[in-house]
Amino acid sequence: MNVKFARLGAAGNEQPVVLVEDGNGAAKYFSLSGLTQDINGEFFATDGIARTRKALESGELPEISAEGLRVGSPIARPSSVIGIGLNYAAHAAESGATPPEVPVVFLKPANTVAGPFDAAPIPPSAEKYDWEVELGVVIGKEASYLSSVEEAAGHIAGYVAANDLSERDYQIPGSAGQWVKGKSLPASSPLGPWFVPAGQVDAGNLSLRTWVNGEPRQDSNTSDMIFDPATVVHHLSQYMVLEPGDVILTGTPEGVALSGRFPFIQPGDVVEIEVEGLGRQRQEFFRADGNLAAVSAGDAAFAGDAAAR
Ligand code: ZN
Repeated sequence: MNVKFARLGAAGNEQPVVLVEDGNGAAKYFSLSGLTQDINGEFFATDGIARTRKALESGELPEISAEGLRVGSPIARPSSVIGIGLNYAAHAAESGATPPEVPVVFLKPANTVAGPFDAAPIPPSAEKYDWEVELGVVIGKEASYLSSVEEAAGHIAGYVAANDLSERDYQIPGSAGQWVKGKSLPASSPLGPWFVPAGQVDAGNLSLRTWVNGEPRQDSNTSDMIFDPATVVHHLSQYMVLEPGDVILTGTPEGVALSGRFPFIQPGDVVEIEVEGLGRQRQEFFRADGNLAAVSAGDAAFAGDAAAR
């Protein structure tokens, strides 16, 4: 049975759900509140995906209406959000870099995670805010000093769509050698709308696309990645402990504003990203005024939007 996982409800008060599609574009939503506290590290560490399938088959899960509910990040609170840079050769070229021989690794604070349709703040003085559609990898079990790429593949629980929003002046000229300042901004890691288990996705052949105000920007495929997800997980495990529920953003393909081919994000712009099989996100951007509360003001996205896609 193909299943997708989501978290629905107001920011900070989402409930875990599983979606079952009927093949005709309609989805049924079942609450997981009786099965798990949330879709988090503990869920993955305690075989939550298999327990969900079993509970669905035995008819134990209550069906709910998703009508009018905000869609949150499908993963509650990773302990780490890890970014991989320059993992597509054409994007490395448009960034003025040569393709790396080992993965370029950076970290994003876990508090950058946002819902896929939440209104997105542009930092008060930022001029170069940029989109990055990416395949997000979700870790299923603790990974440390893994011995092989094959072993690493077994530590991947599944995948999410991600937008690795990046401020280029903070990332590059203002970096003093580290990208972190351009990658840590509030709500700069929208995830979702769904988490899809690994067995349902051919992660090596997924189209990745971006539109700004309806005009195409990025249009590539994960088959063009330099380091594939299992290689990345194996590599990272030599340097850090990956915990269940951690998210790895595997890099973006060409077609970002940094290339000089497109303007950077302006207030009022609508950015949509889509990863094949993992759903589509939509963010409307506004200028942050320094008040973080404004970030949650635009919770105007509904589960119906996600189901329609
Ligand atoms: Zn990125």
